[in-house]
Amino acid sequence: MDFGLSGRVALVTAASRGLGLASAKALAAEGASLVICARGAKQLEQASTELRATGAKVESLALDVSAPDAAAQLVGLARDKFGRLDVLVNNAGGPPPGSFTKVGDADWERAFQLTLMSVVRLVREALPLLQASGQGRIVNIVSTSVKQPIDDLILSNALRSAVIGLAKTLSREVAGNGITVNNVLPGIILTDRQRELRGADAARRGISFEAAIEEAGRSIPVGRVGQPDEVGALVAFLASAQASYITGTSIQVDGGLVVGLF
Ligand code: NAD
Repeated sequence: MDFGLSGRVALVTAASRGLGLASAKALAAEGASLVICARGAKQLEQASTELRATGAKVESLALDVSAPDAAAQLVGLARDKFGRLDVLVNNAGGPPPGSFTKVGDADWERAFQLTLMSVVRLVREALPLLQASGQGRIVNIVSTSVKQPIDDLILSNALRSAVIGLAKTLSREVAGNGITVNNVLPGIILTDRQRELRGADAARRGISFEAAIEEAGRSIPVGRVGQPDEVGALVAFLASAQASYITGTSIQVDGGLVVGLF
């Protein structure tokens, strides 16, 4: 199937590794040109090199997506280098863990800027170009926690749900302009971050990393944790021409992890 992404331009934030990089790779494989960002310049350059090796045109900018001027810089780069923007994939690192009594106002403010305001500003900057595209696509990488909150992640649980409310309302506002807005909800996906967290947990418990991953897989109906490219594939489909009638949805990529009807 030709996804109709050849000659189109996608901005994928937080894409030097993990789900962002996997999404960028899936879009590149479909012929899209890319603008990517991450905080660390070195890993971002490695990711750009990897993406260019597929034949994709890639522009990158090392910045923190929670900074107030990040969105204008990134969309400006797409406009200057490619003259267009067709796909916006909103992604960022997750806010730190913590229970309600452990997090204070400064933690809430940082998480608000990172998880919600980064999306607000990126969408605001991108909308004119997405509208001009005629096939504008916004895909937010969120988490299954919006359906089944995860203990000790109060900042993430609260602010990711706000992204879902934003996306649903926005999807109705921009539908007439040919722009779709959807959310991808990963379950447990074996990215570098997950490797680090589960590796540290395995070491604390005196078990091997492989045993910890196998144990995590047993809690998931399909019997294993997910791979980043399984998330990237859905992002690319939601960005495709074929997904033109899908908007305002939240789709899990979780091997059946979420227990619930909706
Ligand atoms: P990761 O640590 O493997 O990759 C995160 C990427 O984001 C890196 O490229 C990093 O440089 C970049 N980044 C982080 N903070 C940034 C910032 N402020 N500005 C710019 N770039 C930034 O993580 P991942 O597993 O790919 O997760 C991506 C997002 O998806 C996170 O918000 C995470 O909480 C969420 N998520 C992940 C899973 C999973 O199982 N992997 C499940 C649900 C939700």
